[in-house]
Amino acid sequence: MRPEYNPRVITANHEAGHALAYIELEIPFAYVEIMRPVNVETGDIGFIRTADGLIAGQVVIDFMRWLKEGVELTPEDNVLISMAGLAAEQLDRRRPHLGKNDVRSSAKQDYETAISITEGWLLHKRYHFDSPEAYIKDQFQFVHRLLKRDRPKHTTLVSALLERGRLTYNECMTVVEAAGNAWGAEPRDAACEPPTKFANR
Ligand SMILES: [Zn+2]
Repeated sequence: MRPEYNPRVITANHEAGHALAYIELEIPFAYVEIMRPVNVETGDIGFIRTADGLIAGQVVIDFMRWLKEGVELTPEDNVLISMAGLAAEQLDRRRPHLGKNDVRSSAKQDYETAISITEGWLLHKRYHFDSPEAYIKDQFQFVHRLLKRDRPKHTTLVSALLERGRLTYNECMTVVEAAGNAWGAEPRDAACEPPTKFANR
């Protein structure tokens, strides 16, 4: 089976995308894992790919550490992290595409999370977007560019994940540290500016 069609590899790509987004935003998590194939109907946990076997993966949050360290997850970052999985699956594509199938199937939960965050934010902060969908699409394109720039880190993380199945935040840090500069370590170029589709009304 070509690696791009192997559900375990796809899941590793996807979860490494989420993990790398957390790492680059300096938001710790407990661990990231890809699970053994399961042959039950899909549940609501993590990311589930229904190709040959079902392979679930997830990034598990460390809320106690967040509390202790006063970690704040802004809605912008949360949307970025949510869309990083699907963006990471599309690193070989020149133009990433957030299609109807993605919204409905593989990354359904990620997409729904992003929508509910954006809608909640919209209500709370009274921001105006063209629409939550348009904002999410922009963030998806944005995180795709960031991950592409960070490709060596992503590749290293995917290999480690495939090899070990589960990596703690600190293990991920060790794995990616050797692979290049962090997003924050160099000035963000114009192509990597966050979308500014919203304005306070
Ligand atoms: Zn995901």
